[in-house]
Order: sequence, then C-alpha cells, then structure tokens
Amino acid sequence: MKNALSSPSGSEEAVRSTNATQPDVMSNKSSLGTTQTLRVSFPQKPVVFLDIVVKRFTRSVAASRPGLLAKLDRPAHGVLALALGLLLTLAGRPAAHAALTNSSTDLAVLVVSATADDAALPAIRQALDFLGTPYTVHVATAQPGSLTAEKLATGTRGFYSSVMLTDSQLAYSPDGSTWTSALSTPEWATLTQYQADFGVRQINWSGYPTPDTGFNWPTAAFDSTGNPARGSWTTAARSSFPYLVTTHQFAVSNVWTYLATPLDTNTTVWLADAQGHALIAVKQHADGREVLSMTFDNAPWLTHSIVLSHGLVTWANKGLFLGERHTYLSAQIDDVFLADEMWPNGEFRQSARDWAATIAWQNKFRTRTLGRNFRYDMVFNGLGTVPGQYENDDLTPYVRTNKSMFKWISHTYTHLNLDNVDYATALSEITMNNQAASGMGLPGYNKVNMVTGQISGLQNPQFIKAAYDAGIRYLVSDTSIPSHRPASPNVGVPNFVDPRILMIPRHANNLFFNVSTPEEWTGEYNHIYRAYWGRDLSYTEIVDNQAELLLGFLLKGDVSPLMFHQPNLRDYNGAGNTLLGDLLDAVANKYEKLYNFPALSPTMNNLAVLLQRRQDYNASGVVATRNADNTVTLTVTKGARIPVTGLVSGGIVSFTGTVAPVISAENYAGQRITYVTLAAGASVTLKRN
Ligand SMILES: [Zn+2]
Repeated sequence: MKNALSSPSGSEEAVRSTNATQPDVMSNKSSLGTTQTLRVSFPQKPVVFLDIVVKRFTRSVAASRPGLLAKLDRPAHGVLALALGLLLTLAGRPAAHAALTNSSTDLAVLVVSATADDAALPAIRQALDFLGTPYTVHVATAQPGSLTAEKLATGTRGFYSSVMLTDSQLAYSPDGSTWTSALSTPEWATLTQYQADFGVRQINWSGYPTPDTGFNWPTAAFDSTGNPARGSWTTAARSSFPYLVTTHQFAVSNVWTYLATPLDTNTTVWLADAQGHALIAVKQHADGREVLSMTFDNAPWLTHSIVLSHGLVTWANKGLFLGERHTYLSAQIDDVFLADEMWPNGEFRQSARDWAATIAWQNKFRTRTLGRNFRYDMVFNGLGTVPGQYENDDLTPYVRTNKSMFKWISHTYTHLNLDNVDYATALSEITMNNQAASGMGLPGYNKVNMVTGQISGLQNPQFIKAAYDAGIRYLVSDTSIPSHRPASPNVGVPNFVDPRILMIPRHANNLFFNVSTPEEWTGEYNHIYRAYWGRDLSYTEIVDNQAELLLGFLLKGDVSPLMFHQPNLRDYNGAGNTLLGDLLDAVANKYEKLYNFPALSPTMNNLAVLLQRRQDYNASGVVATRNADNTVTLTVTKGARIPVTGLVSGGIVSFTGTVAPVISAENYAGQRITYVTLAAGASVTLKRN
C-alpha cells in the first residue's frame, strides 16, 4: 500500500500528574478480607490530558499572505487579482484535450502539498489513515519540477482516483515576504491534464476563493473562533454524505474563513450560509474537470474537518475507494466488584441500586441512534464476589440475576500489580478469576481477554508467559503512554515480551477512577486544572469538555475502547444518574447532531480481530484498479481482507490461484462496504453492479 504510516493522529500529549492526590500505597493481597483493605488505589493516577480541550485556531498559508488581508477591505477587487497574479492564471489553465476513452484508474489518492507544514496536510492524512485508503503525498517544494506525466499515468492507466490539494494554489513563501505557487507552470498543466484525461476529481482543502475555483472575489474574511460560520446543506451534497445529519446547520469554527458567493451556474454550492456565501462548492470546468473547494481551513483536531472528511473522500473518488469507516463505542468499566479509594478520601463500591441504575440507563441509551448496539464492558475482579469480603454486599447477588446485558472481561482475581510477580502468582490471578467467572455464570466471558490492574505486567516476562499459557491473547495498553500507542490508526500493539499477545490501545480520559459524584469530579478536576484554566469549571463544563474528547474518537472512527471505573457508575442522586451516564448522554447529544448512524460496540476479542485485520490489510500491498469495463481488480502481495467502500459486487469475473476469494459485504452508515479476502499473491476481478 502507498500509505505512509504516520504517528497516530490526535494522540494525547499526556502529562502525568505530579499532584499527590493518591496515597502511595497499594492494597496488600495478604491483608484482604476487610472493607478497609480490599480497595484499589493508583499511586500514579490520574492521567491528565491538557491538550484535548484547547480550541486551537488554524490558519492556512493563504490567510497569512502579507498584504492580502488588508486588501480585502478595499472596494476594488481587481487589486486582489493583481496581488495573486501569476498563481491564479496558472491554476485556471484549461486542459488541452478531452478525456481518454477506455481508461482505468488505480484506487489511490494523490495528495499535493506546497510544503511539509501545510495546515491541511495532517487533516488529509488523518482521514485517509483512519479509513485505510492508500495515498501518496507529493510535497511540491521538496521535489520541484518533478510532478511529471509519468508519475501520474502510463498509457490509459492512471495511478490515482482522486487528487487532494492542501491549498487551491499551493501557495508558499520561499522568503517570508513574496508568495508563489509550489508547482511550476508545466506541473500545473500536467496535473490538470491528468484530471481531464482520466475524469479524476480534485479537492482544495483550503485556499483563497477565486473565479477559477468557482467563486466571486470574497467580500469578507474572519477568524471563526467563537463565531462559527454556519451553513445549510444543499441537495447536491447529500449523496456524498449519507451518514450526515444534513437537516441541521453545519458549523465551521476555529479557522480562517472567507465569505464569497458562487460565480455562475458552473458552480454547484454544497454548503451556503444565510447570506448566500458558498462555504463548500464544486466547480465544473469546460474540459470536464470537477474541483471542490472549501473557503475555510482544515486541521486534524477540528470537528468540521473530521466530520467532512469521509464525504469528501467519497465524492473525490466517485463513491468507490479502498478502506472503510465505522464508529465504535466501547466503555470498559474497571474494578467491578471491588472498592476504589475515592477523592479526596474514603472509598466506594457499587451497590445493587447503582447496578440497577446502570441497567436502566443502558436500556435507555440503546434506544438512541448512537447507542443502539451499546453494552458496557464490565472488567471485574472475582475476589470481590466472595461472601464476607464486603459487609452488606447486595451487589454480588443482584448481578447474578442481572448479568446478561453486559460484556465481561477479567481484571485479575485480586487486582494485584503484575509488574514484578512470579509465574505461579500470575497464573493464579488469571485462573482464579476464570473460575470466578464460571461460578458467576458470566455470559460471553472469554478467557482470551484481560485488562491488567493499572495496566501492569505488560513488560514482565513471568506474567506474560503465564498469560499466554493460560490462553490470554489480548491485553490492553494505555494510549497516554507513548510506547503503548499504535503505529497507525486502528491497529494493535504487539506485546513487548511476546508479540503473540496483541495489546489493544485503550484511551484514558479525565473522568477519574476515584470520583462517583459531581462534587467529587469537579473537586478533583479543579484541583488539577485550576491553574491551567485560571478558574474552576462547573460540572456541566467538565462534562461538555470530556464529551468533546470522546466525540472526537467517535467521529474519526477510532476503534480503541475507553477506560472508566466502577465509581463512575454510582447512582449519585438516587434518580438513576451516574457520572458516566451523564457523560455518554452528552456525547450522544453532540454525535446525533452530526451523524445519523449507530456506533458498534464489539466484544474485546472482536475488537482485536478488527485491529489484526487492519494490520494485515495495511501490510497487504494491495493495488486496486477501476477498469474501463465496469470491473475492479484487486491484487495483494500478502494475504488480507480488503475493504472496498462503495463496491456493490456483481460477482467474480476471474481470479488467480486455486481457491476463489471470499466475498462478503455489509451496508453501514448509508454505504455498501465489500470485503474481499485474498491469499498472498492472489488477484481477483469483480464485476460492479
Ligand atoms: Zn483496576
């Protein structure tokens, strides 16, 4: 594949709190047996995320061109044309001849950036990396003059099914004062000719609106931070955004935004504000080229960029591309059946009432669009179910009769830290919890999964050997630790000691393990973040802030599960409210204003299957070609299951090898996704319906 595996996008720059909010003690196994000692504390927690909530302003290179903004205020827009000068002329160069007949194109994206630092480049990369869509990045200033016809096609075969530019004119400043295009005149001609020849669409991910891109000269430009540009969707946009709630206004914020009206009937507006400015529009050129432009900037952390990207990829590739997008929501609740040390003091263990509230909330959540498939993952310690461990334990008997609506994952028997345990102790922790699961009759419990207490033991050969011997194949890692992060989106991390065990990257967040009420959460949150914010945040603000974080994972299609703890599911007001329920409701309120389809909530071992499939797919070396005769050919060097979005298979035309490839498909979020499982070195041609 052409994917450049980049570091995970949106990764948290976690800061380990130096606030000594936790006693530096761990429960001692030998002294377990009283309410006072059977509790979980985390000397190293909480993990603190500082970057999640900062509304960063993004400004493209075009907006920072000296003189350009000042000239916006002038009435004579002819001055602008002069200022932009050569760039516009070149970008508007018409192609010399009509489209080729009998042409084919590979299903891959050509991304052209002026420099390696263009603001939109990481947004484009993030979108394609999460999808698993192959792409090549051409940084024009790094390879001047090298965008030649041979790079784009050979004969009637084109190498790219779409072109994405970070900036409509690929403007950059070589000296900090003058501005020019990073592509030469011959390179622009080559690129536009390719698009005309092969019917390949282009997207400009930012740029100054011009007549050449389908706009009248802009009448205003502004920073939309705190003052979003709000647009309404037109019918023309909807086929590319089947997953989007297009009946609501769409907000573009935290970026430099130009306001310009559409030029003429060759411009099709997709998103327009109340004054008729086109925020997204497609220009149809006389030579057949179609170019979509956005009049605002994009960056990987911006909600509008994340939400738009899937529809943009869909349109650019005429509805057919390699890769797939799903939305996932997995909430793992650690320490179930144990007590946790609370902030600022005391301890908490769920009661039957809390469990009942959790069941009621989940049932309600499952009636919502986002939550239709949702079930909590209960990550439990069997010792807490032993009679006598906790006084007045009404939780264990209640769970015995109300356990079928959750997923169950082992968290070791006693919550022992596994960093330095020997083999026998580790094995006992694993097998005793398996026995506890059997004793409780926990439905769907699978011995291949485990979440270790404090994410410990991952580098302890004694524990890892015991885990493998006991049948464990999947553990979780903590993405707030750099070495625990995946090499690219939606793949796993092979265990450091034994790569046969796959670690599922799990996201921490600021709903701390040791809070169960709004008072506790706001108290601890403000204790940690008061200096950062310069004030105390309210409960509503904190919930909103963390909901934004989780929303980002969902919108991107991040498969990673989320970390929570049993105190977060306390019925804190006697009315059935829990901190996590409040948070997930807030997430759903945001999500359902944007997306119209449910998230998936797979079991932990099924999550691992998804990660492994993506890993194999990334390594498959797949080349896919859309042929002139309405077929698609897929070829791999290594065996993998290849996802193709937008392919409605009409059956196999031909294949190599002795065994026919396996084809399956699903409809999800308004699109058809076909999966083609190929053996190493195999090739298949499918008819398109
Ligand atoms: Zn735990």
